[in-house]
Amino acid sequence: ETLTAVICGGGNAAHVMTGLASSRENVDIRVLDVFSDEAERWTKTLGADPLVLTVNHPDGSHDEVRGKPNIITNDASKAVPGASVIIFAVPAFAHESYFEAIKPYLKPNITIVGMPGQPGFEFQCFSILRDIAPECCVVAFEGLPWAARISEFGRAVTVLSTKDFLGCVVIKGKSNVGPDPLKPVQYLLGPHPVAQIYQNFLEPTLNTKSIMHPPIMYGTWHEWDGQPLDSKPLFYQGLTAEAADLMSGMSDELIATAKEISRKKPDVNLDGVGHLFDWFKLVYKDEIKDKSSLLTALRTNSAYNGLLHPMKETADGKFLPDFTYRYMTEDVPFGLVVLKGISEIAGVATPVTDKVLAWSQKMIGKEYIVGDKLCGKDVATSRAPQRYGYKTLDDFDILL
Ligand code: NAD
Repeated sequence: ETLTAVICGGGNAAHVMTGLASSRENVDIRVLDVFSDEAERWTKTLGADPLVLTVNHPDGSHDEVRGKPNIITNDASKAVPGASVIIFAVPAFAHESYFEAIKPYLKPNITIVGMPGQPGFEFQCFSILRDIAPECCVVAFEGLPWAARISEFGRAVTVLSTKDFLGCVVIKGKSNVGPDPLKPVQYLLGPHPVAQIYQNFLEPTLNTKSIMHPPIMYGTWHEWDGQPLDSKPLFYQGLTAEAADLMSGMSDELIATAKEISRKKPDVNLDGVGHLFDWFKLVYKDEIKDKSSLLTALRTNSAYNGLLHPMKETADGKFLPDFTYRYMTEDVPFGLVVLKGISEIAGVATPVTDKVLAWSQKMIGKEYIVGDKLCGKDVATSRAPQRYGYKTLDDFDILL
């Protein structure tokens, strides 16, 4: 039987997913790319050729994978009908446009995949697709399976590394997708990463790493005098003690939120929600030189060597911090704001998160919190549960 799947997007992730999926046997792969004229450009650029993936392996060797999708279109009416799997492979800010595009053509029992999902994916999905989502299978991966860069738009992409394992949330709802809903997704991905299912959507959300970047930005820039710098400061190696303390405090607030949710709803198992420092020591056990504190661990992680602050160059060759970079414009509305919203619904105060959020929102010209309440005007463009009308923990039941 043919597996028909739609890959949504046109960036690095969409290129890789399209190439991998199209290289499998017995598939009908369609690309839906609603951004600007990308679909048209991609179709023209590719012509009759396959997309070529260069897949790097840890031992320094690499493979080439070739695959050609059957169609690349910006028209959901051509891509979605007949598909059993739809994979979003775009940054979180673009999810909304894809939910809207596919909505008229969805049928029960389709599997909708966020790759990655990012905090608030489930709230947004079940709000925009209110009528159909409960009859579909909704899957959200906690990260992207690969690090990847397009080398030639539409034609070639390099997979720099592939994760061994990747956690995901599966909300089967009333869908009838069989005992192993991840089987077609895993088939399209190939052997790695191996998808591992979380207990519920709150577990990866409350464990999210999107709490890392904003406090680092705060630490470096909240007392900045506005003057251009001669060079770009180091992002992790230049971490301030204050930033590490804030990050740690935000992690504590998420653990407190998990505890409170489990107390009020004992069926919701959140034992897996842990502190960022513990996660970090585990994942980078061989890369961290000094594990004595979160501060030293972040500063001495060789995987982060040389990473710089996002900066804009001025006309005279100096540098200004770039607050429009995804560390702020994604990790705040699709990260911190979602977490603040969940804590608020759980009834947990979050003074540390509020401090970072108050500064971050000012830097990106938004208003999410007013004092310690998530009631600012820009909640309406975030993925906070409040935006979608969630008021109590019981409102989460449909997602659990
Ligand atoms: P990307 O920067 O390549 O995405 C760009 C694409 O997004 C564009 O080509 C377009 O198709 C789409 N897009 C841009 N603006 C849009 C708009 N206004 N409306 C609709 N679509 C729009 O992103 P990516 O590298 O593919 O990453 C996807 C996600 O995975 C991101 O959340 C990223 O943070 C995460 N991620 C990426 C990597 C990586 O190595 N590429 C690694 C880890 C995590």
